[in-house]
Amino acid sequence: MRERLVIGNWKLNGSTESNCLLIESIKKGLEQQPASAKVVVCPPLVYIAPMVEMLHDTNIQLGAQNICEHEKGAFTGEVSASMLTDFGVNYVLVGHSERRSLFGDTNERVAAKFQAVLKQGMIPVLCVGETLEQRERNQMLEVIDKQLKAILETSTAQQMVSAVIAYEPVWAIGTGLTASPEQAQEIHQFIRNWLKKEAGDVANKIPLLYGGSVNAENAQMLFSQVDIDGGLIGGASLQADSFLAICRS
Ligand code: PEP
Repeated sequence: MRERLVIGNWKLNGSTESNCLLIESIKKGLEQQPASAKVVVCPPLVYIAPMVEMLHDTNIQLGAQNICEHEKGAFTGEVSASMLTDFGVNYVLVGHSERRSLFGDTNERVAAKFQAVLKQGMIPVLCVGETLEQRERNQMLEVIDKQLKAILETSTAQQMVSAVIAYEPVWAIGTGLTASPEQAQEIHQFIRNWLKKEAGDVANKIPLLYGGSVNAENAQMLFSQVDIDGGLIGGASLQADSFLAICRS
């Protein structure tokens, strides 16, 4: 049985007060009705430290939205993987499409970040997915193949299967458009087979998440697909009710 996982990506949202209210509601909700999925939240970096305190008596895990691929040095404004382990962070998103499109994270840099996260004993959550234009040209598999292959420049296939992979079609992120369960399953199956080819049957154990406008209404259908093991949730993770409903799906 593969691990089920729901990760909330808070992006550039929140304040000390609103984060506290949100996490308290999530904690309370999970106490009253536990979810069988592992739950991870990724607040903006400055809120990681206070969140450690807020989560210490819970099963909720802490993730970061990004890291610097370098360990230390003259990289003003950056945060390294070892700094995150200092605070007990377990998961780090790498290659989120917003980092790729807005902040210039190339496949090569994503691969370097992936390795930096692994080196510190954390779990990288590798995000892959095609744009609308690429889907319209039927290039999805080609694009995802390239994004996955790039990781092999810095890491072995065996290391890849100790990560989490999130399929996030760019056209579905924050748009309210969701891949149909069949569309999502097709890509998840492709990713699973790709990993099996590279790493063998151990690839059956890797959690593959779907992300892109998942909400309380569509989560169940998506998560019931054979190769979808949970979700990476943006907008709907900012409301305790919808996030809890997704975690229970
Ligand atoms: C995301 O940020 O990874 C995401 C999937 O966002 P949303 O759920 O808002 O589409």
